[in-house]
Parts: sequence; C-alpha cells; structure tokens
Amino acid sequence: MMNLPSQVNICEVGLRDGLQNEKTILSTQDKLDILRSLIDAGFRVIEVGSFMHPKKVPQMADTDELFKALAAENPGVELRALIPNLRGVQRAADCGCKKVKLNVSASREHNLKNLNMTPEQSVAGFAECVSAASEHGITVSGSISMPFGSPWDGRIPQSEIDAIIDAYLNVGITEISLSDTSGMGVPNQVYDMCCHVREKYPQCSWWLHFHNTRGVAMANIMAAMEAGMTQFDGSFGGLGGCPFVPGAAGNISTEDVVHMCMESGVETGIDVRKAMAVARRVQQLLGHTTDSYLLRAGCSSDLLETIGK
Ligand code: ZN
Repeated sequence: MMNLPSQVNICEVGLRDGLQNEKTILSTQDKLDILRSLIDAGFRVIEVGSFMHPKKVPQMADTDELFKALAAENPGVELRALIPNLRGVQRAADCGCKKVKLNVSASREHNLKNLNMTPEQSVAGFAECVSAASEHGITVSGSISMPFGSPWDGRIPQSEIDAIIDAYLNVGITEISLSDTSGMGVPNQVYDMCCHVREKYPQCSWWLHFHNTRGVAMANIMAAMEAGMTQFDGSFGGLGGCPFVPGAAGNISTEDVVHMCMESGVETGIDVRKAMAVARRVQQLLGHTTDSYLLRAGCSSDLLETIGK
C-alpha cells in the first residue's frame, strides 16, 4: 500500500519558470487573463513572475504591473515572485507583492565560479533582503537549485545541502524549495532526502520543484509524497526549459500532476479541466505544442465515462 497524503498544495509556476524560456513575450493583458483563469481553476499559490532586470529577462518585465492589477482585485490567493536581491524586495514592496522567493545553487563550483561565494555565503547575504522584506510585511522563502545533482558538480553530499538549509534558517527563512532544475533527481534519492530534511528540520515548510528532463519528475513527486511532502510546483502545459532544443524538457506539467492526484484520491482543490483549458490557451498564445500528457490523452475518468465503465 502506498502512503499518500490526503491533500496537497500545487503552485503554478508557468507564468515565471515556463514563460521566461519562451521567445514569444505574452502581453500583460494575456497574462492577467491567465492569472484570473488559474485563480478560477482553484489554484491557491501562483508564481506570477520575477523581479530580475528587464534587460536580462524581458519576458518578466511586466511582473510589477501584474501585481498592481491583481492587488486591486484582492483575489485571496498567495501570489509570489522570484527576486535576485535587495532591489527585488523594493520592487515587491512598490507593487503590492507580499511573497518573494530567493534562490541559490547547491552546486558549489557553479556558485564559486559565478559569484565567488559558497552557497552558504550567498544565503548569508540574503539577511538584508529578509530584514527589508519584514519592514514591508513581505514573507521571504528560499529555494535550493540542483540539490539532487548538478551538471558541474555531480551528486551533492547531503551535508552540503544541510549547510545551505542551516544558512537559510540563520537568516530567518523557514520555507524552502528543493528545485531539481537539472532534472537529475531519481525517486529513491528524492525519498531519502525528503525523509532526512523533514526529520532534521521539522520547523521548515518544504516545496518540491521537478523538471521532467529525463521523464522522472512524476515518479519523484510520488516518492516525495511517500516521504510526507505535500507542496509541489508545476507548470501549465509542461512549459519550461527550451522547446526548440532537441531533448530538452520543461517542468512537470501542472495538469498531469493534478490529474494523477485526482485519480489517486489526493485532493488538490484544482479543477483539472479548467487547468487543462489554461494550458491549451497558453499553447495557443505561444503557437507551439508542449510536453503535456493530459492535453494529448485527456482525463482517464472522461475515457471511462465514454466507454460506460
Ligand atoms: Zn524550474
């Protein structure tokens, strides 16, 4: 018998992690329509965008506008944005964003080469972001990229992951995302790490973020659920990565996760057909298909209805 949670929380990250990799830049109005449809579909946590420099990530340049428009509507859902630094906190404060996420790479060599700092030193530097955020009533979460493996460092020792978690706790961040951006995680490893961090850090709230680069993301979600995890990111249509590079794959598709949960008796609070409609709309706007099983095959419950079973 599997030991699945009765309920999970799914965050839609397509507007950020998905769209930032697309050549087509969606209009602010289209993004707002998507956001409203997501809220209507039952999503309670949505990653709206990021406060990176607009020249660096032009797809996210209107994140401030999205927050301003939605703040006026007061939709009662958690809307978060990725920030790189203190400037991101200021932009969040100015547009009414109440939840931000910082990120560090678990890949030590990568961090040293890029920033000349260890991952722990990078996280310690986030202290100023946390104190500025708290002045504005903004909650800060943190994510750790590539904890399950990196193209530069290979498998990362658990002690190094723990050191980054300790650094997050030291600056007052207790909501942490383990983000398999390289798509190198496998289920037994995910299960072991989830059990380990839950036991060692009971004060933390965990998110899991899987890319489906090697087709293992769904199995990793199941393994994490088995280990007691209940918060997962997904991206509409499976968007993310680069659709024009052969072999590349994006995030696990949100509607595939919602469907699997629904058919397994795990409550998500999300209407799968409405989630599929959003993903279809995004495909239309971008003008290409994406890695979504459900958009190709449909819900199995609909199939059973068709054949009268
Ligand atoms: Zn990602």
